[in-house]
Amino acid sequence: MPARILVIEDNPANLELMSYLLRARGHQVLKAGNGLEGLAAVQRERPDLVLCDVQMPGLDGFEIAQRLKGEPASRAIPLVAVTALAMVGDRERVLAGGFDGYLPKPIDPLRFGLDIESLLAKGPPPEDPGRQWEA
Ligand code: MN
Repeated sequence: MPARILVIEDNPANLELMSYLLRARGHQVLKAGNGLEGLAAVQRERPDLVLCDVQMPGLDGFEIAQRLKGEPASRAIPLVAVTALAMVGDRERVLAGGFDGYLPKPIDPLRFGLDIESLLAKGPPPEDPGRQWEA
């Protein structure tokens, strides 16, 4: 099923790569180059899925997660971190920070595509925060 997917990412090369891979699978892509643009795009466009970089100048991924998950209007939109989880405990930190799941960087084109389909097939994340919702 084609989905409308918002990608929030400050690195232009990563933004283009993810957009290209998503479009190649038939999805409609909305792009935001920073956190503020990303928040505005969520409110305006109501995407089916949000992929969000964690490390960004200005509003970072954790602040975006806090805002989106704190608003009833955007809480149910799946929010997935796209990040290089290098340190022990990073995965837990991302999930505890309000993200519904994460995808690893660097982006592997085949794995990325399969993970996206897997996430979309799951539908909205569960209301119960104890349940996992990951690719
Ligand atoms: Mn970044």
